[in-house]
Parts: sequence; structure tokens; C-alpha cells
Amino acid sequence: MSTSVRPEPKPGVMDIAAYVPGRESAPCATKVWKLSSNESPLGPSPAAVEAISKAMGHLELYPDGSATKLRNAIAETHGLNPANILCSNGSDELLGLLAQTYIKPGDEAIFTEHGFLVYRIQTLAAGGTPVVVKEDKERADVDAILAAVTEKTRIVFLANPNNPTGTYIPVDEVRRLQAGLPKTALLVLDAAYAEYVRRNDYESGIELVSSSENVVMTRTFSKIHGMAALRIGWMYAPAHVVDAVNRVRGPFNVNALAIEAGAAAIRDKAHVERAVAYNETWSAWLVEELGKLGLRVTPSVGNFLLIHFPENGGKSAADADAFLGTRGYVLRRVVPYGFPNALRLTVGPEEANRGVVAALKEFMES
Ligand SMILES: *Cc1c(COP(=O)(O)O)cnc(C)c1O
Repeated sequence: MSTSVRPEPKPGVMDIAAYVPGRESAPCATKVWKLSSNESPLGPSPAAVEAISKAMGHLELYPDGSATKLRNAIAETHGLNPANILCSNGSDELLGLLAQTYIKPGDEAIFTEHGFLVYRIQTLAAGGTPVVVKEDKERADVDAILAAVTEKTRIVFLANPNNPTGTYIPVDEVRRLQAGLPKTALLVLDAAYAEYVRRNDYESGIELVSSSENVVMTRTFSKIHGMAALRIGWMYAPAHVVDAVNRVRGPFNVNALAIEAGAAAIRDKAHVERAVAYNETWSAWLVEELGKLGLRVTPSVGNFLLIHFPENGGKSAADADAFLGTRGYVLRRVVPYGFPNALRLTVGPEEANRGVVAALKEFMES
């Protein structure tokens, strides 16, 4: 059928390598621990679950198209103006909306070599050209980003902290980046893991959004709030960006159950604190135990660790992945992120953390 005339996708679309989510299953194991998607071992706030059961009585009604209840709850919790908040069906949707709103064919978007894969996908889907810049020791390099700016640059995507490295850049570096960008380029600070970071020199981006016209911060309920299934994201942005994206988004992009559950979840500060404390304890434990096995781990401020494996001796990341699979531990391979010989491990339930370390010990000693 090679001669047939048929609808063809626009330029860029067939260059996209479709996003592959973390695997859910392992081949031979009976009990499977999914540690591949940075999901919260604590699950959602009980208040969120209760809010959903109340909302289930009215599935025939369209949701509030501007998600007012959710925006107000977010605004109250973070001390923001609700008019500067826009909610979405997961923050992935927002990344796409921003690309659709600001990138036209021929325009460029910059991100770093180990940056989140969705930036490339959404740039190509908008017809734009991805511009990939080198990192410095697995960390975003502000000078390299600024050196890549041209008059075609429309967006700079920066995950801070980044996935899959878990590294971050301090607030003065983010400020230096913003100050060096042309006023016509939008700086998108993807702060999906902001709540986990306990460093004095870190800021999620709220200050910078408030004090400039070309910065937006995106956030998610999928990680610390343990609600990935519901798909809730939001951005804090200057009024002109909110206005533009509101014209492009679907009119009911956030569903009614998500609005109710999200509003309840963000008010449950105790649950968030529990998740942060749990992560601190177990990520420190995992770093120490993995170090004892002689494995290099990139210093992470998120709820996941990037583990590097020896190049040879049958101890590669692919070998480890296969071995762990037989024991029921599913980690994330990160080849498309430029790490052919590393695996990303999500901090999981206690039993899984202990078990995956024991399995890795067995693997390294085998
Ligand atoms: C998980 C993640 C997201 C959020 O995804 P959702 O669509 O909100 O579930 C965004 N950015 C990064 C870097 C992530 O790791």
C-alpha cells in the first residue's frame, strides 16, 4: 500500500518517540513491587478519598470549567492569587498546552540532555525544534542554556528538581537564568517534586513568577499527594499567560472528582508532611545501603534515586533490571534519558525498600 494517498501527520509528529510509562509487572514473580513511576507509597489523603465518594452522586453533571474550588484551595494553601492559577489534567497536559500556545513551526524550545522526556514530545508535537544542551555533572547548566538561546527561542523547560536525575539548581541560579533570557522567551519551571526538597537554597519558582512576566511554575498532585490516577496539575503564571492558555485548553479539562479530591488533598497539610518525612527517612536509608553495595547514586532531592551500574562483568543496568524482575522489583530503565547504564528507583513501602536492597545485594554478589 506504499503508493496510497492518505492523511499524513504534520511535520514533527512522526519524529516523536512515544512516551513509555513505567512497567507495572515483572515476568516471573508472584508479588510485584512497582518502583518505576515515582508514585507515593503513602497513597492519597483520606480526606481526598472521602471527597470523591461524596462527589460520585452527580456524575451526570459537567464539572466547573474553571475548577474554582480547586484553584481557591491551592491559592489559600500557597498564599497566591487564584486568578494566576490554572488547573489541568495532570501537569503533562499543561506542558503540552504551553507548547501549543507559544511554539509555532520553526521555533525552538531548550531543555537539558537528561531533562524530562515530555519536553521533547510536546515541542515536536507543536512543530517546534528541540534544542538539547549539555548538563554539568548531571545537573542543569545555566551558562549552557543561555548559550543556546537564539531569536527563535520561545520556551526553556527546566525541571527543578529534575527527573530522572533528582538534582536541582539553587534559586540564585534560576534567577540568573531568568535574567539572561530574552523577555520574549518563557521559562517553564516544572516543580513536580518541589515538596520533597528540604534545602535552604531551593525555591519552587513562586517568587520568580510573581516578579516577572515570562516565568511559569507547574505543579502536580501525582507525586507528594499520591493521586496520579486522578490526573491533576496546575500552574502559577502571570495573568497574560493564564489568559492565553485558557483559550487553548479544553473547556472541562479537569474532571469533577479531581476538583473535589484535589481541594481536599491540598488542605491536608499533615498528610503532605508525613509523606515528606517518610521520604527523607527512606531515601537516606537507600542511599546508604546502595553505597555499601558499591553502586554510585546521583545525589537526589526527590522521591527517587538514579543508580549507576558497572559497565562490564555482567553487572550492567540491563542485567540488574532482568534480575530484579525475577524477584518482583520493577525499576525504571532510563535509556531514552541518556542513561544506558542506570536504573531509577522510586522510594517505596518499607518492605519493598528492604527487599530491593537485598535483591541488589544478591545481584552484585552473584
Ligand atoms: C511526574 C512528573 C510530572 C507530572 O506528571 P503529571 O502529568 O502531573 O502526572 C511532571 N514533570 C516531571 C519532571 C515529572 O517527573
